[in-house]
Amino acid sequence: MVVIRQKLVPEAQAKKVTYGGINKKKKVVVHGTDNYRTGADADAHARLQYNGNSRSASWHWSVDEKEAVQSFLHEWSCWAAGNDKGNLEGIHVETCVNADGNYKKTLENTAALIAKILKDEKLTIDDVVQHNHYSGKNCPREIRSGNVPWSDFLKMIQNAGTTQTPKPNTDNKKCRVLTGTYSTIQAAENVLDVLKYRFSWVAYIEQDGSEWRVKTGTFTGMAAAQAGANKIKTAKLAQVANVVAA
Ligand SMILES: [Zn+2]
Repeated sequence: MVVIRQKLVPEAQAKKVTYGGINKKKKVVVHGTDNYRTGADADAHARLQYNGNSRSASWHWSVDEKEAVQSFLHEWSCWAAGNDKGNLEGIHVETCVNADGNYKKTLENTAALIAKILKDEKLTIDDVVQHNHYSGKNCPREIRSGNVPWSDFLKMIQNAGTTQTPKPNTDNKKCRVLTGTYSTIQAAENVLDVLKYRFSWVAYIEQDGSEWRVKTGTFTGMAAAQAGANKIKTAKLAQVANVVAA
């Protein structure tokens, strides 16, 4: 999981530092900022672009250990690769190396972001390249130095792509189904037999004044109990079947 935020560069400024909205979006290109100053984090790089970068340079994403900030939608053809091929087909991701950052966490966030980009843009792990791939520049320097091997970084992306956050199951309350009442115990027993032998449920008979009802064992969750109640009604075993807390 990575926190994602947009701080999109206004169009008038974007036109000055890109080729416009003609990106072929075929590759995700990994960079390092080479900016080791304290505070040179994703927000600082995003603000630099937002406020009008004086350099003829642009990139889509800046990532640090806290978040990934998007400066350009992927359609924009940013100037980051050092050559036109890379500028016209790349989605460019800058990883921050600021002295006060946590580089390992930054790479984890970058991997999670790239996994999302691959999914969104229908690309594969083979489409992830280093800036070096285009211009021969020693970028991303930190990864290319071998501290975190490129093959390990690619594995991080693949693992991030398959990790699903499990949905919390909030419907786990124990519930039972109670039928309406029958005037004879015989009628209740007939229903009980169906629940026990045809549905293979746990079920009981209980007396209610001078009448009788059937009560099921517990279901886990309202949804399961409601499905049980519907099954009883569909089988015409009872006109009324209520779900109650067990
Ligand atoms: Zn680069």
